[in-house]
Amino acid sequence: MSIRSVGDRLRRPEYTGENRCLPCTVVNVCLTVVAAAAATVPLGPPGGLAVLLVGLGAVYFRGYLVPGTPTLTMRYFPPWLLELFGKELELRETLVPVKGVAVRATAEGGRLIDSFADAWDDRIERMRDAGVSDDDVATLLGVETASSVSGDVAYVVDGGLRRWLSESALLADAAAAAVLDARGGEAWEALSPDERVATLRDLRKLLTYCPRCGGDLDEEETETVETCCTESERVLMATCLDCDVRLIEDLGER
Ligand SMILES: [Zn+2]
Repeated sequence: MSIRSVGDRLRRPEYTGENRCLPCTVVNVCLTVVAAAAATVPLGPPGGLAVLLVGLGAVYFRGYLVPGTPTLTMRYFPPWLLELFGKELELRETLVPVKGVAVRATAEGGRLIDSFADAWDDRIERMRDAGVSDDDVATLLGVETASSVSGDVAYVVDGGLRRWLSESALLADAAAAAVLDARGGEAWEALSPDERVATLRDLRKLLTYCPRCGGDLDEEETETVETCCTESERVLMATCLDCDVRLIEDLGER
């Protein structure tokens, strides 16, 4: 059996390659070195070297040495330390195109960039007074035209129908898209209408108030997501406590 095939059998893809967790790897390499140094006392330098090689091999092929390290680092590493390691796994794929423009990755999940949040608030206020126009929806989707269907939060676009959860949801999305449009994020501009809708929906989950009336949100249901080293909360449903309009409903999309 070649070394390569032994490696392939030992390899744990969920913790290595792209999924390798840098903080966990660093912790495990440190543990290996300490263990090897300790082994040198009873076993002599050859014993220490053997422990070192086996330990490093385990970290290389399996991603960790001590079972359960991902949980350990999650519990004991402070967020600032994880940020130092560039932990960005928690940013949802849909938010990656607006990273640096609207959100930044933190160990606890995506966070709105302050200047974007301020601009978003301004737009929401202006659009709340003026109403969301057909042009606003066309800008949101990156299409030529969109025409509203009366009596519904829906628009005819390219012969198809696009519907929003509520006026609040549309207001939040149209305002966010207007800011993104003005800020000229190239990755955002390249997105298809479907991708834009998905990105805006996840961006909306970071909003902390009702865009329609400014009221507080009742987050009826949240989901805790554990990834290597961190856990973050995902809002699945949110309704305004004042006007009772739903802003987020993600139950079907988990
Ligand atoms: Zn409200």
